[in-house]
Amino acid sequence: MLVDDDDDEAVTQRGQLQARDGTYAWERATAQLRVDEGGAVGAGAGEGEGEGAGAGLRFGGTASRGREAALRPGVAYRRGLARNLVLVVDCGAAMEQVDPPPSRQAFVAAQLRAWLSALFVACPLSAVCVLATGGGVCTRLCPLTAAMPPLLAALDALPDPAGLPSLQHALDMATAELRYSPQHCTREVVLLLASLSTTDPGSIHDSIDAAVAQRLTVHAIHLAAEVYIVKHMCVRSGGSHATALDAAHFHTLLSAHVAPPPLHAGAQALTALVPMGFPRSSQCPRCCAATAHTVPGQCAVCALALVRASHLARSYHHLMPLPPFPIAAAPLPADVRCGGCATPLAASAAQCPLCAGLFCFGCDAFVHAQLHVCPTCP
Ligand SMILES: [Zn+2]
Ligand SMILES: [Zn+2]
Ligand SMILES: [Zn+2]
Repeated sequence: MLVDDDDDEAVTQRGQLQARDGTYAWERATAQLRVDEGGAVGAGAGEGEGEGAGAGLRFGGTASRGREAALRPGVAYRRGLARNLVLVVDCGAAMEQVDPPPSRQAFVAAQLRAWLSALFVACPLSAVCVLATGGGVCTRLCPLTAAMPPLLAALDALPDPAGLPSLQHALDMATAELRYSPQHCTREVVLLLASLSTTDPGSIHDSIDAAVAQRLTVHAIHLAAEVYIVKHMCVRSGGSHATALDAAHFHTLLSAHVAPPPLHAGAQALTALVPMGFPRSSQCPRCCAATAHTVPGQCAVCALALVRASHLARSYHHLMPLPPFPIAAAPLPADVRCGGCATPLAASAAQCPLCAGLFCFGCDAFVHAQLHVCPTCP
């Protein structure tokens, strides 16, 4: 792109860019970049480099590492089980590009479909809203809902990529959408971006201040590169920011938003008993109004939170995570079998620290990823 062998001026430019060892300056700069486990891109020079461009970049990396550490199995802390989450999908012209194939927009829509399914399994008390921003405007494709069909329809109806997204419009709409959500609910915004520019009608810093005042947490996953204002927005609101390296990395970054996040400090102070009702025969148990809405949801008349017992049971394991099983001390007792699948255990096994039950490593992984309870604990 920069050079053309037939063009003298370009050849001179190439000479300036080329280093003594035959590599370009940008190649050396890229080689020094490192991606931490949270997906934050930073200078790879390490922690002792002092102030500089890398110092700003590392800031988000530290935050995302903190989130990873907090979500480690076995660490019990308060989590926002009732989640209100606004998805903002970039529909700017940059989403037309064919990397990852078939196009960024089709790729993101497909990833979101799978992610929504995983989200409602892991956090059944969630509600999601879909916004699309492109051509300088932001459109609400689906209001906050816990029902999958309108969300999937919204992903099918993403506008064709055109123009530039408007981060300010998107943030303002997300703030308006989450402003009246109950105090015990999380207020999360997940931005999925590919554009490197934004077109805003005013100062986006005012919108960021308003979002922070309303306790919004903004997370962003960028498909192309780190953009300063996006990262600033995430850091200000206590969210995470990451740049996807490829399709698999994007999937990993998006999956990190399936587990319920740590409860916002402000929300922790406000947490109290939350009245909930279990509707029978599509009737609200408090005011007996017909509840045509999907469960979980709110009664349209008395605003009682309507859930099913299974939703609470499925959310519960996030609050009391199963502790990690350490490797059992060798040698194992003779003729011992796995407490999960009854396979004879030969060399080594994982041991439950509570009941001392022994498990093969396959069962250990299954128990922690799917079951969330030890099968041999009393
Ligand atoms: Zn009611
Ligand atoms: Zn087993
Ligand atoms: Zn056990």
